[in-house]
Amino acid sequence: MAKQEDDFKKVISHAKEYGYVFQSSEIYDGLSAVYDYGQNGAELKKNIREYWWKAMVQLNDNIVGLDSAIFMHPTIWKASGHVDAFNDPLIDNKDSKKRYRADVLIEDYVGKIDAKIEKEVAKAAKRFGDTFDKEQFLATNQRVVDYQEQGKAILKRMGQSLEKEDLEDVKALIEELDIACPMSGSKNWTDVKQFNLMFGTKLGASAENAMDLYLRPETAQGIFVNFLNVQKSGRMKIPFGIAQTGKAFRNEIVARQFIFRMREFEQMEMQFFIQPGTQKEWYEVWKDKRMKWHLSLGMGQDNYRFHNHEKLAHYADAAADIEFRFPFGFKELEGIHSRTDFDLGSHEKFSGKKLQYFDYETNKNYVPYVLETSIGLDRMFLAVFSNSLVEEELDNNTTRTVLKLPAVLAPTKAAVFPLVKKDGLPELAQEIIEDLKWDFNVLYDEKDAVGRRYRRQDANGTPFCITVDHQSLEDNTVTIRHRDTMEQQRVAITELKAIIHKEVDMKSWLRRME
Ligand code: ATP
Repeated sequence: MAKQEDDFKKVISHAKEYGYVFQSSEIYDGLSAVYDYGQNGAELKKNIREYWWKAMVQLNDNIVGLDSAIFMHPTIWKASGHVDAFNDPLIDNKDSKKRYRADVLIEDYVGKIDAKIEKEVAKAAKRFGDTFDKEQFLATNQRVVDYQEQGKAILKRMGQSLEKEDLEDVKALIEELDIACPMSGSKNWTDVKQFNLMFGTKLGASAENAMDLYLRPETAQGIFVNFLNVQKSGRMKIPFGIAQTGKAFRNEIVARQFIFRMREFEQMEMQFFIQPGTQKEWYEVWKDKRMKWHLSLGMGQDNYRFHNHEKLAHYADAAADIEFRFPFGFKELEGIHSRTDFDLGSHEKFSGKKLQYFDYETNKNYVPYVLETSIGLDRMFLAVFSNSLVEEELDNNTTRTVLKLPAVLAPTKAAVFPLVKKDGLPELAQEIIEDLKWDFNVLYDEKDAVGRRYRRQDANGTPFCITVDHQSLEDNTVTIRHRDTMEQQRVAITELKAIIHKEVDMKSWLRRME
């Protein structure tokens, strides 16, 4: 645990030191669970958004984009169920006065059981070596089987109690499991209560006429209320999807995990409209497609897993999360939800307008079913950033800090250095930049010894460093150094564009999804 916490602290301080993420309003002591993205963070975020958008909208001829407003008519949130049911179960510790999400306390308890399983697996893998069969071990080792069953039973009971709104049983479960406040160790808990996560605001110039509004807690509803506008104006045929990225706001009860859980964050959501009855098929299709998108970034298959929901939201008939191994364990990164016709059906009722699709083949009208994929851009940022940050032992007994970002997402693709600040080397370096900058984000650095400049760019995640030396003036060649292997090659200046392009080109990364 201590190592995990330590690693996570390193991630947070590295993000600040290198201009990726800053605490919002820092000079006023910050605003809790709100963050700003710095010069590098803004680029990384933009690149992740683009990687998602291209995979969704550009590569699927039946998916189109949308950019709906954050402010929406307040009845939308009544229809969507958010006014009545967008609650989290909260519990306070009477001694420490700390507030928690009751479900998260229980899930963290199960997370500890999972960690024990992983430990057993690692021990056995060491003992058995090459002959180790993980699946078989998980299915037959009695201790591990017991752990798995214990975890499942806890989650099942919690899911059922939350489903029935039996908050007394949720508290009883916390007490039976002997869960203590992580801050103080106290087990003196209040009752569990429901807490609505939406932020309210007002629209209108005078107090008497002001209209109560909510800041949207998800981007999805903007898609549902525009379903017919897009379908008609784009002459879309079912099955088709509408994708959008944008800010969402939730008054989270506990927000202590950096950009994992924020009060203002960005979502990348896609709603896929389908014929009723086909939702099971599409659910599997989208689970598969989304996992392939994640794996295309090369961050390690072992770092992802599916988690099927026991407790389904009021709108869903099936739901799974793609979980990622964050520095604090496996946690939800993306949700894939089969939302049935709940949303469109409900907006029909509340608005009095028909939200139906006319199928020319069957000559029938129907309210389409919806399959949703929903991922937090900031959470994806944290997944990429934390997974990329490594301390590497080098041959000469030193270490280097490298941010091994997938090259396609790196904020800066290449840094260009003159070996020395004279003899015309800076001018040639600037000429190279002038040529490359139309295709890639590149930067110039002439400060300190070249070795230190390399380290700076390693820590910044820059995939290439290009050094201009005296030989460059004679034969128009430079050295290009690769971040991950630290290999250096002497190449012609005219080859640089092709070398960089080969590693950062979005097309070749996205092709890995096929
Ligand atoms: P959680 O259980 O972690 O609260 P959720 O199930 O409420 O998440 P969804 O409503 O399914 O989340 O939202 C879809 C995605 O939006 C999540 O998978 C996550 O990546 C992202 N997300 C949700 N809440 C936050 C938040 N407070 N901060 C950052 N990202 C978030």
